[in-house]
Amino acid sequence: MRTSVGKRDLAHYPFLHEAQELLASRGIKVAGLSGSSSGRSYLDKATERVILALDGKSVYPESLDDVVSDIVTYVLSKVLVSCTKDKRTMDRFCKMEANRVYGFFHMEENALLKERVCEELDVTTGDGLLTVVRYIELASRVRDAKWRLVNREVEGGVVKISADEQDVLIAERIRTIISSGLPLDVPESIAREFLPWSDKILSAVQERTLAEFGAIEESAYPPCIQALISAAASGANLSHSGRFSMTAFLHNVGMPAEQVAGIFARSPDYNADMTNYQVDHILTNEYTTPSCATMLTHGVCVNKDKLCDSVSHPLNYYRSKKKMLDKMRLIEEAREKKDEVQPEP
Ligand code: SF4
Repeated sequence: MRTSVGKRDLAHYPFLHEAQELLASRGIKVAGLSGSSSGRSYLDKATERVILALDGKSVYPESLDDVVSDIVTYVLSKVLVSCTKDKRTMDRFCKMEANRVYGFFHMEENALLKERVCEELDVTTGDGLLTVVRYIELASRVRDAKWRLVNREVEGGVVKISADEQDVLIAERIRTIISSGLPLDVPESIAREFLPWSDKILSAVQERTLAEFGAIEESAYPPCIQALISAAASGANLSHSGRFSMTAFLHNVGMPAEQVAGIFARSPDYNADMTNYQVDHILTNEYTTPSCATMLTHGVCVNKDKLCDSVSHPLNYYRSKKKMLDKMRLIEEAREKKDEVQPEP
């Protein structure tokens, strides 16, 4: 018999089928929500939930009365992050939601409920033994080297894992479950209806990028990116790695997508539709600028300078160079002020 799941539990584990059933029983539909004040309130809460995730925070229901609202905002948050088409926003959202669920799971005292959640997650490991195939499925995205199959004890096609390691795999599985299916395929009419809320999230993303990197400063770009921009401007055909690295970097430092696409417009064989499609594809599907080691492997680490010796990532180069340029400007300003107050001889 299936474990009965209470309302509080549904707020803790909103991916359970019962949570979706609860919403259906209340007749809550996503389309048209912006037309009612309660719908707008849900959308506001969902927006806040995503923005908090950008800052590494999670929301928690204040009381049992909030449970339905909490589940609705969870669903709407997934819709809104999908509308932004911003991979980093989706990743941050998934990470925070996964941390939240895992926090509840870790503290859970109801063993039957834990079993039920594990069943939904399909992670019942029982005696701490996993088949190699299942182990690879669950552990392939865990970064630490100890999780690589070559570093594990494998016997008869089975991998042994400790209770603590089982917890890590459960946390990873929760993240996978939450991120699976994102971005959702949101109908155009709903994306249009929710534009004020998804735009608010994108503005928050932009603000945080600006806070992290400040105003864009081309003279602080690392040599590799400068070389790629020059090549694009001269009409050279950039490799996929070059195109991806340049686009991701410019996006990471806060350049809007249209402006990134505009860089390709300097090329003589510029095709606006194709360029927008490619830029959009890179920004929505892949996101982070590759590290220096990856850039080197792909042949796009070029014209290294002295600062390159002290960084391992082009974004770290940019941060350091910006700081150096800011410092130089301050020194220059102080010198000019000093010259102004110098009495005439
Ligand atoms: S070392 Fe890094 S920052 Fe410097 S040129 Fe190579 S990839 Fe770019």
